[in-house]
Amino acid sequence: MSEQALQVLNKVFGYGSFRPPQDQVIGDVIAGQDVLVIMPTGGGKSLCYQIPALIRSGVAVVVSPLIALMQDQVNALIPLGIRASFINSTLSSDEFFAVQSALVAGELDLLYVAPERLLQNKTIELLQQLPIALFAIDEAHCVSQWGHDFRADYLQLKKLGQLFPGVPRIALTATADEKTREEIVYQLALDNAQIYISGFDRPNIRYVITEKDNPRKQLLKFIKQNYPHSAGIVYCLSRKKVEATAAWLVQQGFDAMPYHAGMSSEDRKIIQERFLTEENLIVVATIAFGMGIDKPDVRFVAHLDLPKSIEAYYQETGRAGRDGAPAIAWMAYGLQDVVLLRQILNKSNAPDAIRRIERLKLEAMLGFCESTQCRRRILLNYFAESSDETCGNCDACLDPAETWDGTEAAQKALSSIYRTGQKFGVAHLVDVLLGRSTEKVKTFAHEKISTFGIGKELSEQQWKSLFRQLLVRSYIDVSEHGALLLSEKCRAVLKGDEKINFRFDINNKSIARAASRQVDPEDQGLWMALRACRKRLAQTENVPPYVIFHDATLLEMVHNQPLNMHEFAQLSGVGENKLRKYGSMFVEVIQKNIEREEFLHEVE
Ligand code: ADP
Ligand code: ZN
Repeated sequence: MSEQALQVLNKVFGYGSFRPPQDQVIGDVIAGQDVLVIMPTGGGKSLCYQIPALIRSGVAVVVSPLIALMQDQVNALIPLGIRASFINSTLSSDEFFAVQSALVAGELDLLYVAPERLLQNKTIELLQQLPIALFAIDEAHCVSQWGHDFRADYLQLKKLGQLFPGVPRIALTATADEKTREEIVYQLALDNAQIYISGFDRPNIRYVITEKDNPRKQLLKFIKQNYPHSAGIVYCLSRKKVEATAAWLVQQGFDAMPYHAGMSSEDRKIIQERFLTEENLIVVATIAFGMGIDKPDVRFVAHLDLPKSIEAYYQETGRAGRDGAPAIAWMAYGLQDVVLLRQILNKSNAPDAIRRIERLKLEAMLGFCESTQCRRRILLNYFAESSDETCGNCDACLDPAETWDGTEAAQKALSSIYRTGQKFGVAHLVDVLLGRSTEKVKTFAHEKISTFGIGKELSEQQWKSLFRQLLVRSYIDVSEHGALLLSEKCRAVLKGDEKINFRFDINNKSIARAASRQVDPEDQGLWMALRACRKRLAQTENVPPYVIFHDATLLEMVHNQPLNMHEFAQLSGVGENKLRKYGSMFVEVIQKNIEREEFLHEVE
């Protein structure tokens, strides 16, 4: 079997090899075994049922909760020569009958169906008369009441096993916690299923966390230096900030749109649609934007506010780079984030047990931001996947943060809090340390206290960084009103019994730029020409550009510069169908580019 599966992978999809455990999953399903697959976003779940669908006889039925995505999924399969279609409530009755007759005639490899539609008697009766290759249950975590995407219809899917004995079922999800996994097995009656869990690592995503200084300016610089013509998501906490940031990006000449739960569902739909089909739209959004954003070519996810937990960070950043080409998860993080989130937690009326969990999750997130260790390693360890290696593709690896002995500075900061009566916020405390005679300083006669002006060796930004680190490490806390308070833990530092090291915050300017640029400056011309060719084809065929070729395939064209069809066929992502349809056009673009460069060379 593996021979046949590999052939389909090469010829139809144009990929050279399987990513483990794809081959095992595919082998099991072809052999008629039930399977549960847990793989991170972008891991390659779809092939796990698409290849068996092409090899087993009969039609493969794919259950998916996201009606809006079915059309896109089918659109991406057609150019590969796969006979796919879908049934959901958006079809007119004529369209429905067309799909039905293709189905009955045995002319479909894959059929996508919404769960409520599948479970209607007439659909079941129709399918029972046909040979069925397999059932794939996508987004299988929707059966879990613990999760956030619970769908009552999914519970009915349990029946499939009895209604279609002998037809293998494959359930797929990116949600990996144990509770959800157990519930999937139970609710879908997958007791005999083989379970495959693959790693959480997303090696093509570069993690970069930078100290927040002037966030808008930093964001602008980040986008300009890395992905000035690409699709990206910028996450902010509040609707107001979402709108303001989007408007500002538009002023700066970018295509940007706001997205949040306060907008009408029509408006939100339009934005989702544009985001999916365009290749350089930036969506500035609250976390309401994400579920079902199945767009492979999102090149960056930027956070202007701190996510509430590492799980949230992983999920949000995971929307970048599903196509496997380089992508960046960038975050600007600073003192105000810490103060704000701590304040929210301290004010919260939630039951103690919940507050404790929220606090622990926030602590873990803060620890992640502050750490000087490899970001990827911390993420993987958090998900109980041990990794001892450093990744070479995060800010900590590329531009290691140095630490400094800040014991004395910490003592100055802590005594300032103490001497001003634990009643003031960071801004005022920094003024005191720097010896600034502001109105507030005068009003409270803080020029007279012993810590006034004793901190001139550090800048305002450095003091803020130090207060932030003290907060994160719980040497100090925040009151409801934002005043800094001493905690029990700081006593040892004040008495000189404990030394304390801080990280130097570097605004890692260099890394994001130098190392992650996908295309060398001298190849920029070819890259843009290939993109233009892709865009023309996409417009003619009325599909998103990534349906023609993914960024990863376009990048291979830049790096390998294939000059004939044979060389072109070797590229990853070029199967027989796409080779025939598009090969010569892209080869021509590459040839023309070489001629143009030779010409320019001669002119010089
Ligand atoms: P998931 O559903 O797990 O989020 P997809 O099935 O959409 O991920 O796959 C993510 C990307 O990886 C797609 O662009 C897909 O074509 C690509 N891909 C999957 N398997 C392979 C493979 N074996 N070799 C190369 N690319 C692959
Ligand atoms: Zn690293």
